[in-house]
Amino acid sequence: MNEVKQPKKPMMFYYTIALLVLMVINFFAMPYLSEREVKEVDYGTFIQMTDDQKIGKVEIEDNEILFSNKDETKFYKTGRMDDPNLTMRLYDSGAKFSSKIVEQMNPVASVILSWVLPILIFIALGQWMSKKLMNKAGGNSMMFGMGKSNAKIYVKSSEGIRFKDVAGEDEAKENLTEIVDYLHNPDKFKSIGAQMPKGVLLVGPPGTGKTMLAKAVAGEANVPFFSMSGSEFVEMFVGMGASKVRDLFKQAKDKAPCIVFIDEIDAIGKKRDGQFAGNDEREQTLNQLLTEMDGFEGNNGVIILAATNRPESLDPALTRPGRFDRRVPVELPDLKGREEILKVHAKKVKTTGDIDFNKIARMASGASGAELANIVNEAALRAVRDGRAAASEADLEESIEVVIAGYQKKNAILTDKEKWAVATHEIGHAMVAALQTNSAPVQKITIIPRTSGALGYTMQVEEGNHYLMTKVELENKIATLTGGRAAEEVMLGSISTGAANDIEQATKLARAMITRYGMSKDFDMVAMETVTNQYLGGDTSLACSAQTQADIDKQVVALVKAQHEKAGKILLEHRDKLAELSQYLYDRETITGEEFMKILKGA
Ligand code: ADP
Repeated sequence: MNEVKQPKKPMMFYYTIALLVLMVINFFAMPYLSEREVKEVDYGTFIQMTDDQKIGKVEIEDNEILFSNKDETKFYKTGRMDDPNLTMRLYDSGAKFSSKIVEQMNPVASVILSWVLPILIFIALGQWMSKKLMNKAGGNSMMFGMGKSNAKIYVKSSEGIRFKDVAGEDEAKENLTEIVDYLHNPDKFKSIGAQMPKGVLLVGPPGTGKTMLAKAVAGEANVPFFSMSGSEFVEMFVGMGASKVRDLFKQAKDKAPCIVFIDEIDAIGKKRDGQFAGNDEREQTLNQLLTEMDGFEGNNGVIILAATNRPESLDPALTRPGRFDRRVPVELPDLKGREEILKVHAKKVKTTGDIDFNKIARMASGASGAELANIVNEAALRAVRDGRAAASEADLEESIEVVIAGYQKKNAILTDKEKWAVATHEIGHAMVAALQTNSAPVQKITIIPRTSGALGYTMQVEEGNHYLMTKVELENKIATLTGGRAAEEVMLGSISTGAANDIEQATKLARAMITRYGMSKDFDMVAMETVTNQYLGGDTSLACSAQTQADIDKQVVALVKAQHEKAGKILLEHRDKLAELSQYLYDRETITGEEFMKILKGA
């Protein structure tokens, strides 16, 4: 806890004094030393005074002649002329022409004034500026701040974020409560000999509240919170990142107990693969981090929290016990979590009291905490735009659509034929979804174009939480995706480009069924693909022979084709309804799920 005290009188104080002394010398002493009042006269006067023997001292310089009267009370100067007899005449006049008329300054003082002082002033200015820059940029400036961690103390008191602000994520909170408990009362743990984990790794997709949770831990424990992003360690010069790590840990140890939070730790903690020359700076930084984490004994009150959405890319040395030995998953919120997050954020804006948050949460399936926060904010913005005092449920619904599909394109003009095709396409999706018992009910269908490029869409709402999906459910989903195209075929006899996105999604799903979920007879339970990037888009890489790849392709095609045919059959059976509903949607442009079901079920 010992802080290094700043000296009471900084160097700047002494430099200022020196500067003042210099100014005093310049203003008062220098003129006195260097000059007395000297009257300029013509050369004739000088000759006259010489001949009259009225001059005392004479000093002949390159271009001028300085002289005084007999009693050396008055001083004169005149320009020098070509005057060969001058010496003789001066000798005759009895003047002292070897002595100086103006006293030269002491050479030591002159050197000090002309050389040493300016240099001192420059040094002082330089030091002062570097100090200023360092304070201002917090060490960001390349030349002056190198090697400083510039971690900032973020939350210092209980005003900060608390666990109650982080909705859902109960498991993560429970896990972290122990850390808070430890920070409050370390002796309880020490007495048993239990060691607190030195580091806790928060893993999960972006926007799920990892940063918030870390802040909440500091807020709950009421300890300082040092926050830094992994990328901030990586500097242009090799060795700077390592020095930043050292500095950060030094600061943290001084302030213990405290929380150090490193966001996006994968920026420095990537696996060292040993290929090529590698990134020296990153590796040195990582090594320093590993060393620092080993360096402090457990129970010294510094807890390191780190967040990443690429846990698989981290260096194993970082994740081994003794370093980041605890991993807390922070997953996308489930239905209940989404509802709670919506409520937490809705409290920050004015809303009409009658909002069914459960319904909104069901509509926003798959949304992260950050997206939900954005949805609430969009709703509030919409209310402001329309001049209303509070955001309503309709605002929230619309803002979900904005987040999913973008804003309504007010001036996109579809031709009649196009509009009819879009209406048929969307009704096709909705009907296939509704007529297969296991598919989620339709919430809303619209054919108003959106800025994302969608010309219309069918919004489905999950009934509850889905943790597992059966093979049949997945197949039905593919059938629903193909429903749009199938409707075009059934009703219009021609097909359009409108199905591009559906095709992509259906293929992805079918591929996953065959290569990852073991849902094809031929491959049994063999993984043909592995997910390489679980939290960021779920990229996959194939792990099979070229022969098998060809087989997979065939099976994917067969699977999608079968579902496409099924969808076509369903729609053909209900062709009248398809026509009726398409006309209805064409006329109204947006219809609700209830209207849709009423017509579908109607006699
Ligand atoms: P991450 O670090 O996981 O990318 P953040 O913690 O920065 O995500 O979250 C971004 C924003 O999303 C937060 O400021 C908050 O408004 C909102 N948010 C995310 N998760 C939650 C949650 N569980 N409860 C409340 N708000 C959340």
